[in-house]
Amino acid sequence: DGSGEFAMFDLVETAQMSADWVKRGIKSDFEIKVEGVDRCMAYGRRGHIQQVIMNLVQNAVDAVTDVQDATVILNLSLEEGRAILTVSDNGPGIPDEVRTKIFDPFFTTKEVGDGTGLGLSISHKIAEEHGGALTLETSAERGACFRLELPVKGTS
Ligand code: ADP
Ligand code: MG
Repeated sequence: DGSGEFAMFDLVETAQMSADWVKRGIKSDFEIKVEGVDRCMAYGRRGHIQQVIMNLVQNAVDAVTDVQDATVILNLSLEEGRAILTVSDNGPGIPDEVRTKIFDPFFTTKEVGDGTGLGLSISHKIAEEHGGALTLETSAERGACFRLELPVKGTS
């Protein structure tokens, strides 16, 4: 279907689809909001980026399972010629000693069977293959916020 090829695509649409997909798999009825700009064209492999976003949203959902007024927010913006997606949650956040390891392959704090520890390492690699970046924002008091940056145009 061409989703594995490099092309222009709307990151807002892909974010919405990823959020909907993860939402279908959860029992608790909390909102996964998609906010920010209405349209945000980016350049890359749409299918791979969708996988990255689904990983981030699933992690956020996992983090808020025991939280009251759980919220997961995806926000889209354009900054200096880059398409930016942030995924934030109001879960417990990520302690400093864990922060340094989250992008390592097989690092997980989840029970055996709940997590492979591969999601963030693969997602980080995919972002780099795009000439983009995946980073964890420096912590607010609560929750975690991941930031995916993608180019808006091909380099050739
Ligand atoms: P997995 O989800 O299989 O554990 P990941 O690579 O996706 O593997 O994530 C690695 C680890 O990073 C998680 O086990 C968790 O400790 C931490 N993490 C990722 N996202 C969040 C989040 N939103 N809130 C708290 N911890 C997180
Ligand atoms: Mg994960």
